[in-house]
Amino acid sequence: MVDCYTSKWFARLRHPLLRWYRAQRRDLPWRKTTDPYAIWVSETMLQQTQVATVIDYYRRFLARFPNVVTLAGAEEQEVLALWAGLGYYRRARQLHAAAQVMATEFGGEFPSAFEDILKLPGVGRYTAGAIASFAFDQRAPVLEANTIRLFSRLLALRDAPSRAASQRRLWEFAEQILPRRSGGSGEINQAVMELGSLICTPKQPDCDSCPVARMCPTFELGLQSEIPRPNPKKAFVAKNHALVVIWNRGKVLMRRNPPGQWWDGLWDFPRTDVTGDGSNASFFDAARPDSEDSLSGVRSALSRDLGLRCVPLEHFRTIKHGVTRFRISLFCYRAEREDSASSLRKLEAEWRWVDIRSPPDLPLTSTAEKLRRALMV
Ligand code: SF4
Repeated sequence: MVDCYTSKWFARLRHPLLRWYRAQRRDLPWRKTTDPYAIWVSETMLQQTQVATVIDYYRRFLARFPNVVTLAGAEEQEVLALWAGLGYYRRARQLHAAAQVMATEFGGEFPSAFEDILKLPGVGRYTAGAIASFAFDQRAPVLEANTIRLFSRLLALRDAPSRAASQRRLWEFAEQILPRRSGGSGEINQAVMELGSLICTPKQPDCDSCPVARMCPTFELGLQSEIPRPNPKKAFVAKNHALVVIWNRGKVLMRRNPPGQWWDGLWDFPRTDVTGDGSNASFFDAARPDSEDSLSGVRSALSRDLGLRCVPLEHFRTIKHGVTRFRISLFCYRAEREDSASSLRKLEAEWRWVDIRSPPDLPLTSTAEKLRRALMV
């Protein structure tokens, strides 16, 4: 079979694509700059977060940390606090760590060589390609959720995109779509990402408005709902966590998660894992979180894991959330403290009574922030 994806085919694709992009692109703040630092911040924020949410965070972050040097010199807690609410705090830590690498190894300048960008903490092939092409207009391909879907459809790819052979083909396509001569790669990358985001959407793509519809085999075959094929589902592990809200004179007890634990460095209500197999005499029963067994299971788990002595009184809310391959049911209790102030000071991690009526300047985990808002209602 003759491969129709020749350099002529790509040249014919680029023309209507660029015309559409120049007329239809969204007016986003990070599109108005070629500063690699600002582009890097926006790309990092946009991983796992919607454009509309990112805009304000991006502006605040750049106002406080306008360049590599200011970010590198900041305290990690301040960087995390500015990130509060965006979630996935690992991204903020990696930005901070990468800024420190640039401060020491590149004299506080953003490196321009693709290989150097790729070596920065938290920067993968996609982000390096985005920075290299948007900021320096280098011929560096990009592949992320929107372009994976668009390219899969332009290729009529029948295999799941996550398979190794599909990944190879998609990256090859992402490179082939870029002009061979220097210049213009950044704009083509922006255009394909925008087309994937606005027109070639996961459900009911707007093929009637698509500038490249006449070159799309998926459209021709009517296979938009079958391509891209879903990636194989990951196996998730269910976990039960218990959390206690302990009040004292209008403040609540919070704890900074120690290094090496989930949400390391972020503040949270005291919480611990109460997932059990039901074989103990006293165990946590997720179906009856207010039962005596459950209350006593929560009490002993908090004492064992955190050294916190308290009496859970009443279950008032359950929050479901996910962390990597874990699906967590977080059972929230009101509780009374048994510890004295001095015994709290002896606990290993950092503990503090926090006034949660105004947004604290501590970086909270996203579930702690959700609960903080709920408690204020
Ligand atoms: S024609 Fe439809 S399926 Fe094909 S690229 Fe355009 S929007 Fe996507």
